[in-house]
Amino acid sequence: MAGGDATLNPYAIVRAQVKQACEALRLDDSVYELLKQPVRILEVAIPVTMDDGSLRTFTGYRSQHNDALGPTKGGIRFHPDVNLDEVRALSMWMTIKCSLLGLPFGGGKGGVICNPKELSEAELEQISRGFIRGVSAIVGPEKDVPAPDVYTNPQIMAWMMDEYSRMQRSNAFALITGKPVELGGSLGRGEATGRGCVVTIQAAMNKLGMKPAGARVAVQGFGNAGTVAARLLHEIGARVVAVSDSRGGVTSPAGLDIPAVIAHKARTGSVVGFPGAAPISNADLLTMECDVLVPAALENQLTAENAGQVQARIVAEAANGPTTPAAQEILFSKGVFDRPDVLANAGGVTVSYFEWVQNLYNFYWTEDEVNQRMQQMMERAFEAVHALKERHHTTMRQAAYMFAVKRVADAMRLRGWLRRAPAGRQPGRAAAN
Ligand code: NAD
Repeated sequence: MAGGDATLNPYAIVRAQVKQACEALRLDDSVYELLKQPVRILEVAIPVTMDDGSLRTFTGYRSQHNDALGPTKGGIRFHPDVNLDEVRALSMWMTIKCSLLGLPFGGGKGGVICNPKELSEAELEQISRGFIRGVSAIVGPEKDVPAPDVYTNPQIMAWMMDEYSRMQRSNAFALITGKPVELGGSLGRGEATGRGCVVTIQAAMNKLGMKPAGARVAVQGFGNAGTVAARLLHEIGARVVAVSDSRGGVTSPAGLDIPAVIAHKARTGSVVGFPGAAPISNADLLTMECDVLVPAALENQLTAENAGQVQARIVAEAANGPTTPAAQEILFSKGVFDRPDVLANAGGVTVSYFEWVQNLYNFYWTEDEVNQRMQQMMERAFEAVHALKERHHTTMRQAAYMFAVKRVADAMRLRGWLRRAPAGRQPGRAAAN
């Protein structure tokens, strides 16, 4: 693989990652046999009356990868590039992430092929309601609990919760997380992914003897995750030297005034054109001189082509799947401290878990409580993965997968899902292939 990217297909990538972890743990073959694909996938056609009076159908998917540890959990993405393999991969990553953080959830994910930037609010609402109606048989507070992802937000979660509640004829706040606070959303959920990412950046800095003050940070993707990470890093004294979004980026070696960039984006719709900063492309941002690189947009940004030019000492994956396996090998050989997606962006699902718990109990926590508990769980997961990485002389990513797969495998074994060892033979040695 080191010569180039054998595949950029996220589903092939995550399957290989899980297989490697099973082999490193010397697990019985039946563990990978059960983990190599989602247990259930539903495809739905969502009819929408467009503002011009025409009728259009949109395709949506919900993938439930594995529920050995509890109801499946994972976001819903609205994006033109959504496809079945992406949704399947994202649901597998959620299994790993929930397990890694010790949450009582398996992995799920959903997506609708659409471009929210070209849709009116009325059209978006119909897609949101139609999607949840379509998957209503397989989701629910004890079955599968969705959340926001790329180009979905608390309003969309509120429409979905409302539609599902109408169908159930009772309020079902615990159906979905990432809701507005007025409708059972958790304080701190909006910031959780970016905040959790910063917790792990600080933990990595501690290991490397680096200080946040003055550290140069580049953030690709200035949405929910990227904006919060940039703002919190700016607040603790880091120099955010570049940020970008789908239209391009801006850079300033002296550091960008992040609250002002946020205001500029709110006004104009993009970071592009921020006064006093130079333009930079998304590609150049990834390889620019900096100490910390935060990919916070989409998959496959760091590949065999550009990983060799990455200058950051820490790569913190706020996005899911931004680094290909070939790029990972290159970064590892360069001594870059990797903080894999399944760890770095797990703050979001951790606070989603808190939201679900608060909804089930109808008892709500303060924002400080939420942030403190999330920080504790992220730090605990970071330390566990770091210890395993040291013990096995491997990457943080491989260690994270090993830690997470072991917990899912134990749950499956205890539930009686795995092959029984033939009489007189011990289980535990994966076939070497
Ligand atoms: P978002 O929609 O709020 O933001 C996405 C950002 O990426 C936008 O600024 C967009 O302009 C930018 N972008 C899109 N295409 C780009 C490109 N080609 N180059 C550069 N920038 C581009 O989404 P988000 O919720 O912040 O999610 C971003 C990433 O974080 C995704 O990979 C998502 O799966 C992951 N993530 C999000 C959460 C969450 O709670 N929101 C949790 C875990 C992981």
